[in-house]
Amino acid sequence: MKISFYGACRTVTGSCHMIETEDTKLLVDCGMFQGSKDLKELNYGEFSFSPNEIDYVILSHAHIDHSGLIPKLVKRGFKGTVISTKPTTDLCSIMLPDSGHIQELEVDRKNRKLARAGEPLIEPIYNHLDAKRALMQFSTLDYNLKVDLTPTISVRFQDAGHILGSSIVEIWVKENSYQTKLVFTGDIGNLNQPIIKDPTVIDETDYLIMETTYGNRLHKKLGNKQELLLQIIESTFFRGGNVIIPAFAVERTQDILYYLGKLDLAGRLPDCKIYVDSPLAISASEIFKVSVNYFDEETKAAFDKIWQSPGILKRIVMTRSAEESKKLNEIKTNAIIISASGMCDAGRIKHHLKHNLWREESSIVFVGYQAPGTLGRQIIDGKKQVRIHGEQIAVNAQIHNLDGFSGHADQNALLHWFDSFKQKPKEVFLVHGEPEGMDAFKNILLEKYDIEVYTPEINQSFDLKHGKVKVYDVQGPSEKDAALVYANIINKLSELYRVNLERHEIKQLYEKLKTIEKTI
Ligand SMILES: [Zn+2]
Ligand SMILES: [Zn+2]
Repeated sequence: MKISFYGACRTVTGSCHMIETEDTKLLVDCGMFQGSKDLKELNYGEFSFSPNEIDYVILSHAHIDHSGLIPKLVKRGFKGTVISTKPTTDLCSIMLPDSGHIQELEVDRKNRKLARAGEPLIEPIYNHLDAKRALMQFSTLDYNLKVDLTPTISVRFQDAGHILGSSIVEIWVKENSYQTKLVFTGDIGNLNQPIIKDPTVIDETDYLIMETTYGNRLHKKLGNKQELLLQIIESTFFRGGNVIIPAFAVERTQDILYYLGKLDLAGRLPDCKIYVDSPLAISASEIFKVSVNYFDEETKAAFDKIWQSPGILKRIVMTRSAEESKKLNEIKTNAIIISASGMCDAGRIKHHLKHNLWREESSIVFVGYQAPGTLGRQIIDGKKQVRIHGEQIAVNAQIHNLDGFSGHADQNALLHWFDSFKQKPKEVFLVHGEPEGMDAFKNILLEKYDIEVYTPEINQSFDLKHGKVKVYDVQGPSEKDAALVYANIINKLSELYRVNLERHEIKQLYEKLKTIEKTI
């Protein structure tokens, strides 16, 4: 078996990893690169593999840096199935067409420049129709259900506690009658987030492919996040300004609304209107409303109370149209504006920053990861002036970076999650992190545990059979592995018996069974 890394290698975005066995190729995630211009350029090139040879995409969660190139994969010939949880499929059904629409707008803008320069025009990576077409290939799998994709590959999702529907992906591969397990963390959630559960603890794996977004950082101790948010809102309104919250349309927006709803229910929210100014966030909120079964217990209990309270319903204004959005520019105070994109590099948030960033009365509240090169990162890094829509804008507003709201585990939480393995993986591949974070986390793992840690480069492949600690061939399977293989064969036998009798296959399995029986 071979594993290859095609994205999120020593960078955070573009997650795409391939597992290749003798007869199957599957991708875990097929995400878009985001952030700097150089990274974004990678989205336009050809894939480093043939999309028509891929059998499955196992999608960890809906975020565009994990799902965003699936429509391109389909456009380039992928005919297989995308497997994800129900909420991930639902969220993708709005996020991927939205992403297609963004690609179209971006290319229109680029082509206007190219045409003026007399250069050849370019095509969007994919358009919203390509995205809709890709959605036809999605198939859902619920948490905790182990399914056989092929006679030799099984997969199971566990809740990653990162966003609604997010998964840790467990994959089992049988080769030469021995079984190898791989775990892909996807993005690991922060502890004690509202709405969603904490990340699932995994007991054991042979290989671990782990994210390290906050590999070298600790979230600031925020105390009570809700109280902190309230303090910022109160002091901003006292100064006569607005609270601008750049937030990812999925999860962060709903988390903030949940906190504001709880404050309102307790009668503590000052007089204000809450504007959700992102059509994507509005549609995503609808999906949250029908996904209550996936919430943690506390949220399940509070959800109806909050969303049926006339108080909060009166305050929240969902602005879908561009005209409604533009009107918000005239509001000087007592508005909380939640808008996307979360990293401020596109979308309506740029207008709200243009109208509030220069006003010392206003506050900008960051609640998520800001990739290098984005407008959001420039602001939290303390730039005194930033460029928005070709205009220099002074940064006079109060800037709050509440990374404790982040959907990602920080260094301590990542370590805590790793430490929960009863049997530690022997080989760990670190992905989805900036080089400093990844290297720091690698050093900690090497100091604490007797394991091998790799930080793969883009397009790098590793053979997981040769040169790795796989002793099965020499010593035979352990008792537990043998029992697992035994159980799977019994399952397979009964399935064949029911479906149709493929005699040679049954004979083969029977032979395997006999050898394994001896070892148990
Ligand atoms: Zn994510
Ligand atoms: Zn991610």
